[in-house]
Amino acid sequence: ARSFTTGGGAPRARRVLVFPLPFQGHIDPMMHLAGALHARAGLAVTVLHTRFNAMDPTRHPEFRFVEVPDGVPADVAAAGRIIDVILAMNAAMEAAPAVVRAALALSAMIAEEEEDDNEAAPPRAACLVIDAHLLAVQRVAEELKLPTIVLRTVSAACLRCFLAYPMLHDKGYLPPQESQLHMPVPELQPLRVKDLYQSKISSHEMLRVVIARITETVRNSSGVVINTSEALEPAELQKLRGELSHLPLLLAAGPLHKLSSRSTGSSLLDQDYSCIGWLDTQPPGSVLYVSFGSLAAMDSGEFIEVAWGLANSGHPFLWVVRPNLVQHADIVQLPDGFEEAVKGRGMVIRWAPQQEVLAHAAVGGFWTHCGWNSTLEAVGEGVPMICRPDAVDQMMNARYVEEVWGVGFELEGELGRREVEGAVRKLMGRGSEGAEMRERAQDLRRKVAECLMERSGSSHTAIDEATAIWDPPPK
Ligand code: UDP
Repeated sequence: ARSFTTGGGAPRARRVLVFPLPFQGHIDPMMHLAGALHARAGLAVTVLHTRFNAMDPTRHPEFRFVEVPDGVPADVAAAGRIIDVILAMNAAMEAAPAVVRAALALSAMIAEEEEDDNEAAPPRAACLVIDAHLLAVQRVAEELKLPTIVLRTVSAACLRCFLAYPMLHDKGYLPPQESQLHMPVPELQPLRVKDLYQSKISSHEMLRVVIARITETVRNSSGVVINTSEALEPAELQKLRGELSHLPLLLAAGPLHKLSSRSTGSSLLDQDYSCIGWLDTQPPGSVLYVSFGSLAAMDSGEFIEVAWGLANSGHPFLWVVRPNLVQHADIVQLPDGFEEAVKGRGMVIRWAPQQEVLAHAAVGGFWTHCGWNSTLEAVGEGVPMICRPDAVDQMMNARYVEEVWGVGFELEGELGRREVEGAVRKLMGRGSEGAEMRERAQDLRRKVAECLMERSGSSHTAIDEATAIWDPPPK
């Protein structure tokens, strides 16, 4: 463990602050990174968090927690739309930087208590690891002379797309035109216009603002840790290192969930472990796991088609139907006769322990919305995918799954029961296409696992390189 000595006193663990964006797909990788820094590098961790989607500190007794008032208006919080929350949170923090400053200083003082009681000493926290969406927090940290490292919870390809956003507009790729959707974007090979980062619910202008703020946060930081692997995106990482050559650090440390303990205990919904017992009763590689992450939603017609497509495929499945999966529906109801039709072969739950599910021997395929965490979790277990991207970076993740790694395919177009049934059979059936994808998924899993190997693996050594910025400690 790394440690340092203050003024002749006993060696103390160094402290790092982490501040995730309060959404599931951002909290998990940050908590895994915090876990790795704590367990591997011996760093003490303080988690800054908002009341909006607050974490449960009792699940992380090894960390300290400090709440930062988020200023998100009640109606924005209730609607829970990610871009609106990000903008509202940043606006509130920019309007009242003293509040953020107090929380950061408090966290730093917590660290000071453990060391000497020299009141004139600078904040003891060596560094703040922030989500790229938290520019307002970075600005305050800058004032406090607290260096920031940005954790990017998306792919290296996605970060390249963000850096290229002004160029994509200048050259007319964006905003996307219907007639150009299949046009290749050679600057971001293998992406097409339809794969570029886009939102269905926020205006393009709003997206431009959010992305410009992300790139500013990245450029102003002391380094970036990306939740990806040299095995997955070697060319993208190499290009990024050129594009961000002023940064002292640009590290691929993923998949982060493989570097720290399996569960972070940071799930915002209760995970239903009864599905593991059910999976134990199913033959190896037979079950299709179906989940669209924490935010993606479908309309009620699509929901019914998915249900019957799964039922008619004849393959066993485990389907996550979370409370807000269907747009404009307070209660999600499965179609009449569905439960009878799939008895013993299908299980529906509200929220899964996804990493355990994907690691289970009975799971042979994953129908996913291609959120980056879900994609990494599938890749990490060698599980091939049916991709149904919905928005943001999911289209480009699906493109990499299909075109670059060959470990799955996209289910495009209208979501009808026949198409669903066909896709499930293609992935899970005995045909050669499914078999080849399964084989490639295992190859990719092995390559990613090599990067995670102790001492020699690039993701493993990335954590050591990240902690090197705390050594020697800042004066
Ligand atoms: N997840 C989970 N249980 C579920 C579905 C998802 O624990 O039933 C977790 C999943 O393991 C992943 C995260 O939620 O870590 C979703 O992140 P992702 O980036 O895939 O998608 P998002 O929710 O951000 O769209």
